[in-house]
Amino acid sequence: MFESLSERLSGVFDKLTKQGALTEADVSTALREVRVALLDADVALPVARGFIDRVREKATGAAVVKSVTPGQMVVKIVHDELIATLAGDGQGQGLKVDSPPAPVLMVGLQGSGKTTTTAKLAKRLKERDGKRVLMASLDTRRPAAMEQLAVLGRQCGVDTLPIVPGQDAVAIAKRARQQAMLGGYDVVMLDTAGRMHVDDELMAEVAAVRDATQPHETLLVVDSLTGQDAVNVAQNFNERVGVSGVVLTRMDGDGRGGAALSMRAVTGRPIKFVGTGEKLDGLEEFHPERVAGRILG
Ligand code: GDP
Repeated sequence: MFESLSERLSGVFDKLTKQGALTEADVSTALREVRVALLDADVALPVARGFIDRVREKATGAAVVKSVTPGQMVVKIVHDELIATLAGDGQGQGLKVDSPPAPVLMVGLQGSGKTTTTAKLAKRLKERDGKRVLMASLDTRRPAAMEQLAVLGRQCGVDTLPIVPGQDAVAIAKRARQQAMLGGYDVVMLDTAGRMHVDDELMAEVAAVRDATQPHETLLVVDSLTGQDAVNVAQNFNERVGVSGVVLTRMDGDGRGGAALSMRAVTGRPIKFVGTGEKLDGLEEFHPERVAGRILG
């Protein structure tokens, strides 16, 4: 995760911290290199630009240039700005699943890792938070996807709603809620259908399920490897159905990290979890401070 960005930044900062005294020109050169590193990591242009502007404002003051360890001060400013970029207003981390049966709507494009993430989250809620979770697949067009969720449920010991052929997504969602209420479940996770692209039919279906279930969380699952596309998809889903948070999958294979760095700034929505592998325990809570620490080594 973030390997290439981390390497690039450590190159820039090694030079800077070894230098002792710094001129404003030294800081400017370093920030230009940081900007290029961010863009090469596929960070959205306005995000990279805003980031550098804010760092420059703080780093070109007399306090930095005159300080005993100016290089380290610049690194600290970049570190703090990374946290601010990743965390936004700091609101929205964690899941709101306190009033049972709390509906959690899982949305996203096909292949993003949505079904796997549904099972990962269910497993986590069960094991860490002691929640009783019911999962339901609403993917009426792909019986294989419904079966996949049932298989994953058996693997992690989480119940899935029995499949009844012929029901539409809203009918399944209502049945899931009913079953969750009757069965004393704490959380009901609704794995909506995905498509290859964002389209009107998909959005209409997700919106109908949302209206029928009033989810406490609507989590968008996106593939971090798709970089700026992931951010565009998030923006689109957020405008059209409203999401409460994002799960970025395949972070284990993402050496660049552009989606993670741009997501909050562009969409205004927090990354709540990241997928870190194919296995069902490959899910981590997203902590902006830790991620900033990882990026800066
Ligand atoms: P869906 O079509 O969005 O429901 O996608 P799936 O859940 O079926 O996932 C598609 C593929 O991505 C599967 O092979 C998953 O094992 C894999 N996958 C999902 N999340 C991750 C992740 O965080 N890391 C890795 N390496 N693979 C993942």
